[in-house]
Amino acid sequence: MKTAICPGSFDPITLGHLDIIRRAAEIFPHVIVAVMVNSKKTGLFSVEERVELIRRVVQDFPNVTVESSTALLAQWAEEKGDCVLVKGLRAISDFESEFQMALINRKLNPKLETVFLPTSDEYLYLSSSIVREVCSLGGDITDFVPKEILPDVKQKLARG
Ligand code: ADP
Repeated sequence: MKTAICPGSFDPITLGHLDIIRRAAEIFPHVIVAVMVNSKKTGLFSVEERVELIRRVVQDFPNVTVESSTALLAQWAEEKGDCVLVKGLRAISDFESEFQMALINRKLNPKLETVFLPTSDEYLYLSSSIVREVCSLGGDITDFVPKEILPDVKQKLARG
């Protein structure tokens, strides 16, 4: 069985991401959560902070590890050996860009398949950007992010 790579920006990790990671970890023997660095986007959390937050959340998952990379995903995945990409699909609006990325990744690395897992319905509306927006305006994000990282997100956004 292959290794699953769950790539994303995870700025910050949400319960929607965690649901996909948990389900991937039930299907595949090893899951790598890959924080991919987009040099054009300045994030809320640094890449090192995002990795630390995700590690805290998945520490009880024996077959999940967390890494970051500035490389092109298709090349990075090749270095990892026999893998598939696992992505979550929220809505039709995700489909177009995810479909394009899956095809580009396979063009760049013909052995690299993408597997899509449909979101769980309670997380259909959830994204990192919604979490950042709600929290920065003083809204309650308890149902949106893992409890282990709640204070970090609140503190970061309180500081502005
Ligand atoms: P976001 O869109 O929240 O900024 P990322 O770019 O970090 O997320 O996305 C990484 C992966 O996680 C993508 O495949 C994305 O579709 C998936 N994902 C994000 N939020 C959810 C969710 N609520 N349910 C299912 N999959 C999700």
